[in-house]
Amino acid sequence: MESGSGGAAPSSGSTAPATTLQAEGSSPPPPPPSRYESQKCRDWNTFLQYLQNHKPPLTLARCSGAHVIEFLKYLDQFGKTKVHITGCPYFGHPNPPAPCACPLKQAWGSLDALIGRLRAAYEENRGRPESNPFGAKAVRIYLREVREGQAKARGIPYQKKKRKRSTVTVSAVSTSGAVSTSGAVSADGDSTIGVGPASSPSLTSTTSMTNVTKTTV
Ligand SMILES: [Zn+2]
Repeated sequence: MESGSGGAAPSSGSTAPATTLQAEGSSPPPPPPSRYESQKCRDWNTFLQYLQNHKPPLTLARCSGAHVIEFLKYLDQFGKTKVHITGCPYFGHPNPPAPCACPLKQAWGSLDALIGRLRAAYEENRGRPESNPFGAKAVRIYLREVREGQAKARGIPYQKKKRKRSTVTVSAVSTSGAVSTSGAVSADGDSTIGVGPASSPSLTSTTSMTNVTKTTV
């Protein structure tokens, strides 16, 4: 590091020893994580951060479904989805003609997908499926309420189209249909609850988008 001294060398950085890549070929680089995997990792870290800042202090082991719901509500402040209150003239209006003062929240599809990822991450981090707070019944009920509330407020019929596709992955999405899933499964240890639902949520968020774009001119 002798940047300031000596006026001889011109400061064009052609000969600068920039980032020497060494030890090439000794070990193959790991494959880059998929978008889902990296998103899951980020979500998990966000949640751990949330636990750390929680008052009173909260550990993962003591985390319940109620805490998960609290976390979801906390995330609403970062949401970008307008959810009209009942007093708003645009309540139930899919395409309001003018802005209003209603709060922005996390869209149901985002929350649903998030829970799917966190639920999988919990078990990948040695959490036991039967104590998985992200699979708690209260969380499922909360998500269903959010879905129904947002469907009304935004004028989006989430439930109108029943898509008859892979019945395995649907269990996490349509909570009302397959109620018995995670509550009863706890008996036999290694059920793959975490894997199935995890892949589906990204689908649902896109389907809700396609429902919206119906602009009849
Ligand atoms: Zn509004």
